Amino acid sequence: MGWFDTHNENNIFFGKLEEVFNWGRAGSPWPIGFGLACCAIEMMATGASHYDLDRFGTFFRPSPRQSDVMIVAGTVTLKMAPLLRRLYEQMPEPKYVISMGSCANCGGPYWRYGYHVLKGVDQIVPVDVYVPGCPPRPEALIDGLIQLKEKIKSGKAGK
Ligand code: SF4
Repeated sequence: MGWFDTHNENNIFFGKLEEVFNWGRAGSPWPIGFGLACCAIEMMATGASHYDLDRFGTFFRPSPRQSDVMIVAGTVTLKMAPLLRRLYEQMPEPKYVISMGSCANCGGPYWRYGYHVLKGVDQIVPVDVYVPGCPPRPEALIDGLIQLKEKIKSGKAGK
């Protein structure tokens, strides 16, 4: 049962304005289009015609100014971390983060000996949804996006 079903009586809607905004935000999360390593190939496949993210209202945007979701897809090196943080800061609020794959979640295969890898992107940006896998399949990323939509609707996601 959706938000409208629970707040709609005789075509009159009751709810807070923020809930209406969140309902709209959940309908069209727009991720910034950039990738860091092999996980990005699966992210690109998710956006391509076979999996067709457009049907979920999700379009990759070329600029952080037009995006409200950051999908961290790949290995976050210490050299790349400040740039990722800067892109995050350039996104308008409210903004959401999906950590895609083991590298972004915790350092992945570089967890122990990767002296050059950040051991979890949540050390520099607040993560809303973690997608496990090395790499996660497109179905897993779609599941992560659906989880994010549910969190946005319930007001539990975002900064
Ligand atoms: S989690 Fe695996 S597939 Fe993804 S970037 Fe790291 S090594 Fe590559």
